[in-house]
This record gives sequence, C-alpha cells and structure tokens, in this order.
Amino acid sequence: MSIIFEKTVAGRRGARLSKSDVPPAEPIEARYSRSSALQLCELSELDVVRHFTELSRRNFGVDTNFYPLGSCTMKYNPKVFEKIAHLKGFFSLHPLLPQLRGAGLLTQGALAVIYELEKLLCEITGMDAFTLHPMAGAQGELTGMLIVAAYHKYKNNRKTEVLIPDEAHGTNPSSAATAGYHVREVATNRKTGFIDLQALESAMGEHTAALMLTNPNTLGIFVSNIEEIAKLAKKHDCLLYYDGANLNAVLGRFRPGDVFFDIVHVNLHKTFATPHGGGGPGAGPVGVRKNLERFLPISRVVKRDDNTYKLEYDYPDSIGYVAPFYGNFLVCLRAYAYILTLGAQGLRRVSDNAVLNANYILHSLKDLFHAPYPDGCMHECVLSAQKQTEREIRAIDIAKALIDEGFHPPTAYFPLIVKEALMIEPTETESKETLDAFIAAMRKIAEKAETNPAELRAAPRTTPVGRLDETKAAREMDIRY
Ligand SMILES: *Cc1c(COP(=O)(O)O)cnc(C)c1O
Repeated sequence: MSIIFEKTVAGRRGARLSKSDVPPAEPIEARYSRSSALQLCELSELDVVRHFTELSRRNFGVDTNFYPLGSCTMKYNPKVFEKIAHLKGFFSLHPLLPQLRGAGLLTQGALAVIYELEKLLCEITGMDAFTLHPMAGAQGELTGMLIVAAYHKYKNNRKTEVLIPDEAHGTNPSSAATAGYHVREVATNRKTGFIDLQALESAMGEHTAALMLTNPNTLGIFVSNIEEIAKLAKKHDCLLYYDGANLNAVLGRFRPGDVFFDIVHVNLHKTFATPHGGGGPGAGPVGVRKNLERFLPISRVVKRDDNTYKLEYDYPDSIGYVAPFYGNFLVCLRAYAYILTLGAQGLRRVSDNAVLNANYILHSLKDLFHAPYPDGCMHECVLSAQKQTEREIRAIDIAKALIDEGFHPPTAYFPLIVKEALMIEPTETESKETLDAFIAAMRKIAEKAETNPAELRAAPRTTPVGRLDETKAAREMDIRY
C-alpha cells in the first residue's frame, strides 16, 4: 500500500508529504454541521470487553461444537497452519513486487510455494498441470467450463450442452450456464445411486461438450462405473469434468486422473486446512490433462534453468485471467503446509478416518432413520426423516432439535432427490466420543418424535430467537442476531 501511495501521491519513493500536497479542506455547510456535542456512550474498557466477549461466544464453529454439515467438510484445521499463513515473509508480500533482482528475491519463496503446490496437486489427483487462481470451488468449475469451451473452439467442435446428474451440487449447473452452456439434467438410478447409464446414453450426443461428475457423489456414494461412462463420453469427444470438492473421501486412494477425467477442481478450503464458512476465503484450483494445459488461465509460474521462478504470461490459447493476481495465495500456502505435514501416509489416513466416521454414524442410526443407501457410504451419509413424517416431524424439526443438543444441524433437504434428506459429514477430525454424543442426540430426537413431537416442532428452545419463520426471515432479513 505504502509503495503505491508514495509513487502516486508523492511522485517519488521516500518523499515526504508537505502541506501543499494536501488539498485544502472544503468548509462544511452550516446545515450539515453539528450544533451540540455528539452524545457518545461512555463505557469502561471492561464493559466493552464483556460486550464483545459475549458476542464472540455466540459464534458457532468447529472450534466450539460438532459441525456435521454434509458436502461442506467442516473439519478442524490445526492452528499451526494459521501461524504459517501469517508468517511475515508471506503475509506482507505485495503482489506487485518484482520477481528477481533486488526486492524480487522476496517473491521467490512465494513463487516456489505456488509451483510446488501445483506439482503436489498433480500427484494427488493424477492430472498433468494445475492452476491455483480460482478463489472458490464454484470459480474452479467456471474456470473448468471455460477451458471446455476453449478446447471445443480450438477443435472447431460445435457443442452446446453440458450434462449434470440430478444429485449434483447446485454450483455445477450454475457454472456451466455461466460459461454459456445449456444444462441438461441426467437422472440418478435410485437403486444404485449412480448416474443412470441408459439416461446418460440417450442424453449424450454430438452436441455434448462435457459431463460434470462428483465422486463420491452427493449421496455419499462412490460411482464405480466410470469406465463405461468414459467410453460413452469419448465417443462424442465429450470432456469429463470431476468436481473434487469431496476429495476428503478419496485422498491417497483414488485419483481422477487415473480414470479418464480431463478436468478436475479441488476445494483447498474443504480438504486442505483453511477454515471456511460465511463465504470464504477459499481456493478451487483446477487441474487438467496435458492436451488442455495450453488453455489454463494466466499467469503461470515457471522454473528457470537456474532454479529460480518467474511468472509467465505468454500463452496465446489461455482463457486469460480468472482472478486478480495469484488467487487466494494464503489459502494455497496453508494447503502446501498441510500436505507436507501429513505426507502421503497422513493423507491416506484422512480419507480412511473420514469414511470410517461416516459409516459409524450411518450404521448407528439406520435402525431409527430411513437410510436410502443403507449398506455403506464414503465420507458422508444420507439419512431421511421419512419415517418421522408419520408423526408429522420433518427433517427441519430434527435439524432444529439438534441445535438444542449443542450440535450444528446436518445439511437438510439436499441432495434434492432424497425426500426429507439429512446429509451428515462428520469428517476425520472428530473423536469417537463426539460421534457417540451426536448419535445419542439423534436417537433421543427419534424417540421424542414418538413421545413428544410437539416439542420437536417448537425447537430450538435454547437460542435467542427460537424457531424462525423462514419465509419472513428471507423477506425481512434482520441480521442483528
Ligand atoms: C462445496 C462444493 C462446491 C462449491 O464449492 P465453493 O467453494 O463453495 O464454491 C461444489 N461442489 C461440491 C460437491 C461441493 O461440496
């Protein structure tokens, strides 16, 4: 900031401002000026501290409670990665610092982190090249769709449509539509939980630009017939896009690049140690196969012969810029540190425990709650309140009752294809004691649905405002609480 200020305001670096550099103050018109002293409340430091401490206690987060919000991977992120992200040499870097010579030496470490992290993500996903620019999963998807468009334009293919299964995360269709594609929904086979092959075959044709798949999908199921899907896609020069937001389930076990996927995005803020919620910051790096590398966004970090790094912009087929400067660099830095800390074995244990924890919950609750896919799951399990609707208890009542028990509700009413869905993602960082406490709360709620359903319908009772009128809340938003 100060470098720019000195350059633009003072004309040369290091110059001091003199009085004549500051424009004279405009006199304030009498009608705008105050006639009596401002009434400021006089509070002691202690009163102010108590006020803000009280407010901070109303925060609900992974640091305070279990937060099993399905598809969101609300796992605990060790504080050491915050420390690393706040190291002065990284944290205070100005994005316009030169890349070598003089002050440029300051940027070599950051460029090395970008370069190395791209390589690590290639190894983790089996792709050939990565960009770290996209600043969220959804932006990664859009970047991926723009690469799809660039590829087909390059090949003179006339393609208008992107296929997406009906269980997909809502960002998938919106990203494809934002990139200009017509979106066609493909049904899921309700029995297997996989995308329906027959439906896919009849939807796919010469007009199909890409198929977007999430694996494991939002039902928490690993789609294992990818080979058949890929064969179909290749017949029509349709690119396969992998939504890797659920990578937590397969880290070190499965690589989309090994099974035909052409483009991948991963969510660093879900899988790789950046706390999220409330809108960011995040990072959704995108990986591609060699034949699509030419289309990646600029800039790209390249290694010179003398092992120093520089930013390169000269890629005529690139889709251009998708983010200012280098994306959310500090999110990438956390991910880099996290991956190096855990190593290959540690990353595999992440997915082992994430999957184990979700299955533990599924198998401990499927006697009381309907489970559309009861046999097993990956990192999250989908239950349903269908049994409880007989007592006029719905998924939302169960979600609200969990608040009274001290838990964040799971994702409710998603995926859309499961009625009264409750989608639970415990993550690998929770202890068996926490999982048991959650299971006990869910069992208590299921019992209450039988014995005292009215109480559940009135939940939550422990929050300042109680049950919200959700329609009114949307129409007359009041965010003071
Ligand atoms: C979270 C998520 C996204 C979107 O990621 P954002 O960073 O929130 O934009 C996309 N797909 C799936 C399956 C997700 O869980």
